Amino acid sequence: MTKVNEGVYFIQGQDEFLPDSHVYVIGDPASNDLSVIDVGLTGKGSYKIQSIKKMGIELEAIKRIIMTHTHLDHIGCLSEMQKAIPGVELWVHRLEAEPLESGDDRGVYGMNEFKGMCQMQYGLKADAFKFKVDRKLEDGDKLDIGGMTWEVIHIPGHSMGGIALYHSSLKILIPGDVIYADYAIGRFDLHGADADQLKKSLYRLAELDVDVLLPGHNQIVKSLPPDYVTKTAKMWEPYLV
Ligand SMILES: [Zn+2]
Ligand SMILES: [Zn+2]
Repeated sequence: MTKVNEGVYFIQGQDEFLPDSHVYVIGDPASNDLSVIDVGLTGKGSYKIQSIKKMGIELEAIKRIIMTHTHLDHIGCLSEMQKAIPGVELWVHRLEAEPLESGDDRGVYGMNEFKGMCQMQYGLKADAFKFKVDRKLEDGDKLDIGGMTWEVIHIPGHSMGGIALYHSSLKILIPGDVIYADYAIGRFDLHGADADQLKKSLYRLAELDVDVLLPGHNQIVKSLPPDYVTKTAKMWEPYLV
């Protein structure tokens, strides 16, 4: 785990034959009110717990897990993390919280063929992705957590209830899989995806002042060029119809 900024920590995903999402820990450690953003692929919980402990953070200080979205590579090890951090809450955008609560896992696996493969590979039970959600997030929510304020921005397109977390004074954006480094964007062919919505979400992110981009995979970017998101949106626009 490395420190990106005061109150923002990064744990790199450990990709194998499937990707494992990055994890971010946000909040002032002294606040005892930390949040974990995404958890990663099934089986990838223990090294994240180890990374957090190595930073000297007590697991009891982690109060909630916030999902940028609920694809398997981000939520797969949620039950491992919940076991390691008793009482930790789960916060998800309403549009992905409702399927999670009813056990509708189409959004987790993204496509049917993948579901069968993952259930075999990881020995997952049919109801492996049924979770109680403690807070259903909405666009525009201001989260005062860990001595910081993060804004929730609903950015559908890659998934139905995808969100970005944005810190306006630090100019930090955590966009999940909607936009990455190197002018890449998230795929838009899975269950709940929508190319037109993704285009609108990219243009919405383009309005923000962002210095630090902390995506779900690949490189993190600490000094983003001012027109980066706009350029990326323009580049992809012809494909997002
Ligand atoms: Zn995703
Ligand atoms: Zn991902």
